Amino acid sequence: MRAHKRETPRQKEARRYLRARVVNADAHGQAHRVKKKDHVRRDRKGLIDQVSCKICGTIICSMIPGEHGPPVLMQTNQYTTIFIEFDDGSRYETPMCKVCAASVDADVLEPLYAADIDKWEKEGDNVNREAWWVRAAYRRPDNVRKG
Ligand SMILES: [Zn+2]
Repeated sequence: MRAHKRETPRQKEARRYLRARVVNADAHGQAHRVKKKDHVRRDRKGLIDQVSCKICGTIICSMIPGEHGPPVLMQTNQYTTIFIEFDDGSRYETPMCKVCAASVDADVLEPLYAADIDKWEKEGDNVNREAWWVRAAYRRPDNVRKG
């Protein structure tokens, strides 16, 4: 995890709360249904070279030879996305394989969200955006919309 040097006290508290949600999702309930922990793989230069389904580990993006240049990251034919909707009216789109997307239900949303939180933290996304972290910390997933 990268250092959060300019983090405000409010943001620090939100991030601590989110960390607890990740641990809790691991320890209880449906976490066993989200099997793939490191679903985004990076090469030595730090560029994403493979993305797996968070639930089952099926590869949903991989490198293919570029037509006129270097290899490019492409979605496989198993790639799709769902929208996780929250109790505060917000939502975001998250990728997974088609088989898992078809069987996603409300019980798996919290561990799915926890897997994304874990990735955002490790990758240092939105590091210094207090409002973003505070919103992310306290919203609860309550519905799934399939694309
Ligand atoms: Zn899957």
